[in-house]
Amino acid sequence: MLSRPVERLREGFDVVVVGGGVTGVWVAREAAARGLKVALVDRGDFGAETSAATTKYIHGGIRYLEQYDFAVVRESLRERRILALGAPHLVEQTKFIMPAWRWSKPSAPLLGAGMALYDLLSFDRNREAPASLRIPHPRWMSKKKLLRSVPWLEPSGLVGAFAYHDTLNVHPERLLLAYVKSAEAAGAVMVNHCSADGFLVDNVGDRLVVEGVCATDVLTGESLEVRAKVVVNAAGPWIDRVLATLGRDAGVGVDRSKGVHILTRALGGGVVRDAVFARAKSGRHVIVSPWMGKSFIGPTDTLMGGEEIRADRDDVQSIIDTVNSTMGRAERPLEEADVELTTVGVRPLIKAPGTEGTYTASRRHELYHHVDQGIDNVWTIGGGKWTTARATAEEMVDELFKHELKRVREVKGNSRRGAAFGAFAWARDAGPYLADAGRELVEAGLSTKSAELIARLYGTEYIEILRLVLEDRRLAEVFPSGDVAAQVVFAVSREGARTLSDIVDRRLVAGTVGRVDGAVLDRIAHFAAPLLGWDAVRAEAEVAREDARRKTCEFSRTV
Ligand SMILES: Cc1cc2nc3c(=O)[nH]c(=O)nc-3n(C[C@H](O)[C@H](O)[C@H](O)COP(=O)(O)OP(=O)(O)OC[C@H]3O[C@@H](n4cnc5c(N)ncnc54)[C@H](O)[C@@H]3O)c2cc1C
Repeated sequence: MLSRPVERLREGFDVVVVGGGVTGVWVAREAAARGLKVALVDRGDFGAETSAATTKYIHGGIRYLEQYDFAVVRESLRERRILALGAPHLVEQTKFIMPAWRWSKPSAPLLGAGMALYDLLSFDRNREAPASLRIPHPRWMSKKKLLRSVPWLEPSGLVGAFAYHDTLNVHPERLLLAYVKSAEAAGAVMVNHCSADGFLVDNVGDRLVVEGVCATDVLTGESLEVRAKVVVNAAGPWIDRVLATLGRDAGVGVDRSKGVHILTRALGGGVVRDAVFARAKSGRHVIVSPWMGKSFIGPTDTLMGGEEIRADRDDVQSIIDTVNSTMGRAERPLEEADVELTTVGVRPLIKAPGTEGTYTASRRHELYHHVDQGIDNVWTIGGGKWTTARATAEEMVDELFKHELKRVREVKGNSRRGAAFGAFAWARDAGPYLADAGRELVEAGLSTKSAELIARLYGTEYIEILRLVLEDRRLAEVFPSGDVAAQVVFAVSREGARTLSDIVDRRLVAGTVGRVDGAVLDRIAHFAAPLLGWDAVRAEAEVAREDARRKTCEFSRTV
């Protein structure tokens, strides 16, 4: 169980990973499972940055076909299957509808060709897949059928739609947490709120021989030296900043692209069950996904200028404009007032000379070995996708065994067939397990909504929430999101949460399904404070700080 073992960082490791987004976490899991002694530090919480700001799909990336990026698409389709089989309770097949109007570009025949290619590239999609994870072939939908499924679409000029399937990452924050727990179960020392401020370097002639990182426990201010044979820099969009502390050109360039989503009322009055690829005449597109009873819409994709990462009015308006331009008169157009929440993340894209803007930039990953720049024992991972993080990690660890760690004995592991922590079973339908777990939670007095949420998002660990509720009935207190107080206790005592945001945004669903007001934060702090050693004054200050932080993030309150 995640205990934030800061003191263990002094032990000395084969590998220290900087960055606990999905890339770093997978590297830690892969390396530990293959017998390496591993530590990972993240300056904030696990998965709190880009990895929490995704469109929530584990997908092949059909639109990368337009860029002829067949290798990325094929790798992504292979990984889609592997990740789905490993966590059937936290993924769901989702039908994607790609409407075609007479003016559509690409035209319907071209879309059809792309769809056929996507299907071909996913030739192994159903290998070992249980019924719930089986993906059918794409097919054409008539206009009549399409408007029955998605009544909000603009009917004029509509020809029909292609329907294909991809996989919903039901709650990326909790799936990432499951991978953190898998890494820890394999022996990795995983510490959040601990920043890597620089490298431990021995100057040998003109070479920089790196021996680990200097770190700071952000919660206490304590400095630490984390010694390791090799450092893997997986700081996502900030890999160049981490390398900058070496004071030498390490040969890495990153384009930072901002991606915003909005959460709104459910378009089509809640009857739409499929995701819609809404492509405007301008060529821009957003995906409108039904998610937790609402519509989750985005992303934007714009090159970042300054340092501030926030969804601003223009970002939100561009999403609204794109959706509205594909909407018929039967639906009330979206407006700012419909926006309940925004998410914002920064894509770490490989700097590619000759590509225009970030929308067309490749989503491939790159492993940088810095030996040619006179830097020993450091690797950097650039680019990539949530979907392909496992493959990137596998490749990274292969390289470590070929280079810095070639003398370390490798334990054979195969993450292609491994279940995520908390999965009921590998490659099995989660339905029956979820039904049983839900029934037990309802029998313990929880509402059906809470029971369904907990079973799905905690997998086999639902039993821990159940135990807490049975031991102390006060922990059955329910919040508006459907989360219950026992989850707060579990988040702090067993899941490494140390701040109110850690709890609200990445352990519970509360922070991802709507606004969380001060009164709810107060109740959450009430249950968390004794475990975090906060007295009444500290708890009040933490609630005030978190409330203020959320208000500046909530788009509709800052315009
Ligand atoms: C809007 C948007 C939508 C997306 N949608 C999808 C999608 O649907 N499917 C998909 O497959 N991919 C998607 N992606 C891409 C995917 O989210 C990213 O590729 C992935 O999350 C990157 O993970 P990462 O671990 O490399 O970076 P991050 O998640 O940003 O992790 C880097 C970590 O490094 C830490 N860090 C930085 N500096 C330091 C330091 N000095 N010390 C310690 N820690 C440090 C940060 O705190 C951070 O947690 C999307 C991306 C965006 C922006």
